[in-house]
Amino acid sequence: ALQCKYNGGVVPLGFTIGKEDRLYHIDPETAPIVQEIFSRYADGEPAEKIATSLNERGLRTRTGKPFVKNSFFQIFRNRRYIGEYRYKDIVTPGGIPTIVDEDLFNRVQQRFEQNKIAHGRPAKEDVSYLLTTKLFCGKCGTLMGGESGTSHMGNTYYYYKCGNAKRHGKAHCDLKAIRKEPLERFVVDTAIKVIFSDEIIEQLIDLVIEAQQKENTRLPVLKDQLRDTEKRLANLLEAIEQGILTPTTKQRLDELEARKEALNTSILEEELKKPVLTREWIRFWLEKFRKGDVGSTEHQRQIIDTFVNSVYVFDDRVVLNFNFTDDAKTVTREEVLGSSAVDNAPPHPQTIRSGDFFVADGTEREPEQVKAGYHYGSGILPFAIFNSV
Ligand SMILES: [Zn+2]
Repeated sequence: ALQCKYNGGVVPLGFTIGKEDRLYHIDPETAPIVQEIFSRYADGEPAEKIATSLNERGLRTRTGKPFVKNSFFQIFRNRRYIGEYRYKDIVTPGGIPTIVDEDLFNRVQQRFEQNKIAHGRPAKEDVSYLLTTKLFCGKCGTLMGGESGTSHMGNTYYYYKCGNAKRHGKAHCDLKAIRKEPLERFVVDTAIKVIFSDEIIEQLIDLVIEAQQKENTRLPVLKDQLRDTEKRLANLLEAIEQGILTPTTKQRLDELEARKEALNTSILEEELKKPVLTREWIRFWLEKFRKGDVGSTEHQRQIIDTFVNSVYVFDDRVVLNFNFTDDAKTVTREEVLGSSAVDNAPPHPQTIRSGDFFVADGTEREPEQVKAGYHYGSGILPFAIFNSV
């Protein structure tokens, strides 16, 4: 087991087993299919649609059958795709080749879970309720959950409904259910307007810079030492130029040169551990984020996960609270449902509560970062907040 050899069972799609070595190898033919399934699902595509399109291309499952939605559930849960080898209770991370990077894998888990929670059982239709866990009934304070209904014309509509009303009936809470799509779209559009004002962007950049300085305590010390060494070296060289030489000058010079080199190496090592994001890079990245496709479910999800703190629904109004700003926004229910192109007055001067920060990490390759040897994950820019309000 320690050698991570194949120990029987169905070989997952994307792998082959070496005839001689009995080890897992990436199957160049089917591994791309696995990657495709993961990315398309992570990007919000319904599992059914993915299955149909794979079948149309003549692709088949590991057992030679056409894909159905359920074929994916095992695939999505299979940690071998992120390189984990498991034998009985022993897990060896990196024991086998990786087909899907961890970030993508986690995004798929998140969406998978969310669909399950939203429906309370394995998803009937593949709908993401993006506001789950952030949406509250204004009347009784209960979390609101997803629900769908079919009109007599046969169209399916998606709603959020107060959990209390859902479980115990109208007598316990009579908040009207609210349509899912317009609400989500309104929240996303408003978040973009509020958060991506020039002022808040500058404050966000300050926070990231501050956060990464706080994180790495070694780098500033090393840089100080390097500056100091360079200064001494320059002084010494000047002394040599002026002909001031003592028997120890050469030895001193060698020492300083060696020290400088060692420091440069340490600094490089530190920087490779975690790239230092420049203001320009963070701004560039935020701009990309702002200009992302608001029609894409994945983008909407990232905006909501990152910037939306909570949303309260009342019968006549909706109240939005955002991270990074104390400004709550109250709008009428009609306004929310009436338009997806929201036009609100520019936000007041904002304050960002200290202690909030986020770490950006993305796929957009900015030349300096690439040179620094840092590899970004694939897919849509991941955006994580730590210590968020
Ligand atoms: Zn309620």
